[in-house]
Amino acid sequence: MSKSIPYGRQSLDEEDLRAVTDVLKSDFLTTGPCVEAFEQAVCAYTGAKYAVAVANGTAALHAACAAAGIGAGDEVITSPLTFAASANCVLYCGGTPVFADVDAKTYNLDPADLERKITDRTKAVIPVHFAGQPCDMDAIYEIARRHRLTVIEDGAHALGASYKGQKTGASSELATFSFHPVKPITTGEGGMVVTGDAELYQKLVLFRSHGITRDREQMTGDEGPWYYEQIDLGYNYRITDIQCALGVSQMKKLDAFLARRRELAERYDLAFADCADVITPYQAPEAESGWHLYVIQLKNGDRRKLFEGLRADGIGVNVHYIPVYRHPYYQAHGYRGVCCPNAEKIYDRMLSLPLYPGLSDEEQEYVIRKVKERLRAEKEKPVN
Ligand SMILES: *Cc1c(COP(=O)(O)O)cnc(C)c1O
Repeated sequence: MSKSIPYGRQSLDEEDLRAVTDVLKSDFLTTGPCVEAFEQAVCAYTGAKYAVAVANGTAALHAACAAAGIGAGDEVITSPLTFAASANCVLYCGGTPVFADVDAKTYNLDPADLERKITDRTKAVIPVHFAGQPCDMDAIYEIARRHRLTVIEDGAHALGASYKGQKTGASSELATFSFHPVKPITTGEGGMVVTGDAELYQKLVLFRSHGITRDREQMTGDEGPWYYEQIDLGYNYRITDIQCALGVSQMKKLDAFLARRRELAERYDLAFADCADVITPYQAPEAESGWHLYVIQLKNGDRRKLFEGLRADGIGVNVHYIPVYRHPYYQAHGYRGVCCPNAEKIYDRMLSLPLYPGLSDEEQEYVIRKVKERLRAEKEKPVN
């Protein structure tokens, strides 16, 4: 196989390209009608009440934390088995991320450990729907209600996933999505926050654009038709109409993307069913994953050797994720003593195999064959 197979990549067609070039010929490049159309498309699809599209998924998390009122002295509990942005957003607001361990089977935040990590300072929890599989949201919301915590779902992997028949975002207090090219749909860079709360929605809109309003009802004065006010400190986290046109077009394909991801995941499951060394991803019966990632664990065997071998075969395997508290920045900022044993054990043994809608059956068969060959070769190698 000559070209290499990545672990994830976007799927764009002619209709997507046309949507983008149409906007380039229009009056609006940045905030225009496509932003709202994209927000409405995500609301219609997920069942969320309000949506605010922003520059990227990290900005969405930052906006959600700000809207939740996270500030100095506040603790926010999240998973260590995630991209650093899930915790960095708390630091942006002056708060302190606290890591609770993941469940050994689902790799999602373990509600029991979440509860153990709650203190008087805990203000919010950021469950991450790892690989697209929704967290145990009933348990998490029950704990959150008892301790008066805001729930911010990091749904970067989970657009289109569902839990007990409801799409991620449908009944979320706050949930965020990312539209980076490897994510369920893409806008190049892009993100969104959804919420069911009108007050949070207003805060998110202000935060996206400098804290500036032109809404007469929100302003303290009115000095003329030119007048606007900055009533809070916000950022320029706006997304362009160019990106949102792509987003609207991509949303039409989301169900087809998800169906293909699921099909590929089932084919992997089947292929590795007879492979004693491979643990395939456990699926909780009440959740339907968006299959952002297909993560295996090696029960026995050298993960590094398999990683290097598969990379040499042109297969872009990856590791998701290095537990966040292990990064030097976190180590240097008070996390040296932190250890989440499940996350550590999973991290040591995990490997993400290629999974994206455009992966062909033949490419997947090549991946499966190479994984099996390399595992077998290692077994047969004499123990010196
Ligand atoms: C991708 C990702 C983000 C950040 O999204 P960006 O759009 O890249 O800023 C946040 N959390 C998780 C779990 C992600 O995978």
